Amino acid sequence: MTANIFALLAASVTDAAAPVIETPEGGALSYGQLMERTAQVAHALVSFGVKPDDRVAVQVEKSVEAVILYLATARAGAVFLPLNTAYTEQEVAYFLKDAEPRLFICDPARVQELGAAATRVGARIETLDAQGQGSLTMAADTAPTEFVTVDRGPEDLVALLYTSGTTGRSKGAMLTHGNLVSNARVLCDAWRFSRADVLIHALPIFHTHGLFVAINVTLFAGASMIFLPKFDADQILDLMPRATVLMGVPTFYVRLLEKPALDAARSAGMRLFVSGSAPLLADTHRAWQMRTGHAILERYGMTETNMNTSNPYDGARVAGTVGLPLPGTEVLIADPDTGVALPQGEIGMIEVRGPNVFKGYWRMPEKTAAEVRTNGFFITGDLGRMDAQGYLHIVGRGKDLIITGGYNVYPKEVEAEIDAIPGVLEAAVIGVPDADFGEAVTAIVVPTGETALTEAQILAALDGRLARFKRPKQVHFVTALPRNTMGKVQKNLLREAFATAPLP
Ligand code: AMP
Repeated sequence: MTANIFALLAASVTDAAAPVIETPEGGALSYGQLMERTAQVAHALVSFGVKPDDRVAVQVEKSVEAVILYLATARAGAVFLPLNTAYTEQEVAYFLKDAEPRLFICDPARVQELGAAATRVGARIETLDAQGQGSLTMAADTAPTEFVTVDRGPEDLVALLYTSGTTGRSKGAMLTHGNLVSNARVLCDAWRFSRADVLIHALPIFHTHGLFVAINVTLFAGASMIFLPKFDADQILDLMPRATVLMGVPTFYVRLLEKPALDAARSAGMRLFVSGSAPLLADTHRAWQMRTGHAILERYGMTETNMNTSNPYDGARVAGTVGLPLPGTEVLIADPDTGVALPQGEIGMIEVRGPNVFKGYWRMPEKTAAEVRTNGFFITGDLGRMDAQGYLHIVGRGKDLIITGGYNVYPKEVEAEIDAIPGVLEAAVIGVPDADFGEAVTAIVVPTGETALTEAQILAALDGRLARFKRPKQVHFVTALPRNTMGKVQKNLLREAFATAPLP
């Protein structure tokens, strides 16, 4: 039996006439049409020289045709390599050199700029624009509508996703058919997806969240999605009465809450709001519940592991936690040095093992060996603790841990105290190099603007709430925190901006 994710999806289609993707402009595609179009695009890929195991690198705007390209690549037994549209020529050149794709597909407007980098590594270059038009489309239009899906085993690669790593070289995470299929099935079940579901898809599709969680879960359930080119709060509010599920990064929820039109009536037909990719503030969770009556379901995953934990569908969705391990995934809180499990309740390295965990870093066996223990547990780099009910609390990235005067300070704990001060919208806490302390705890605060705030007020409010060594040595005020497209606060930029001494 083949393990090709596409073949398994195709086998689960029960109604070829059922809708799978619609666009706000009125475009609609049925499951039957999806099967035919992926066959045509798979033929086009083969005509461009793509063979099983070849990488197909793609830097294109979000479009339905780009989703089809992902599925067609899987169908042809090749490896899909999506790239953030924001990447510059220099960055794209690095990925192409590292991955050595057979084919590179980009926007027609960028062929001139990126062509040389593709040619240097012997990749053929073809095009696809934001409207789904280009040389790929032209080749596919005249191709047959049937294609024999290439046999794949569960260990064969289907995607290469470069981690958004903020330090060092970006690494290619090798994901297998087995990884994607197991995670999609577990999530369908955990989140009770069915054919009746209509997902609002507003995430980018070069990242695990929008590409795998959103698309694979929808398809495995036989559900449908309304496909938006990008996040637009007003458009999402308009669509809510026709939809059942929204998957978003925390910023989506913050932006939607700014709209007075968001209320219980508007979201009455929705059954699920999922958040992930970055921490959802407990405040946002509470505000959402008050306004809509829905408890946002927060889950935790990463490029290398797919999804690891989720708050329950039935039962308590606890704000500020990422929930319980998903079925089949083991989560361990370990001593970062030894990998030995710590007593329940202690903070340690989050390590995970299961069919969801990737095969390793592309052509970097030493990096893979450094991050996967011999017993198969992957060292996530996130620090966390498990509470008595088995819910996982993430306290931050290991590399964001501050060591000041020999003491460990977990930024999240300090951030939560500052966030609770009236007049504070949010805060980020970082360590900056300091001659006396090694690192000095430094707070970057975004005020709500309703009341004037000073450093002295912040420090006074923390007095008695945090041990002295955890209290910031400095407080800076900014109008917004720098975030990447997935809503993650870019602490590396803050460390650079607020360093008073040279960074190590
Ligand atoms: P990426 O590989 O880009 O998906 O980034 C994965 C990282 O995002 C994880 O290692 C976490 O640090 C962070 N992350 C993902 N989901 C959550 C969440 N629900 N809460 C806090 N951090 C999260």
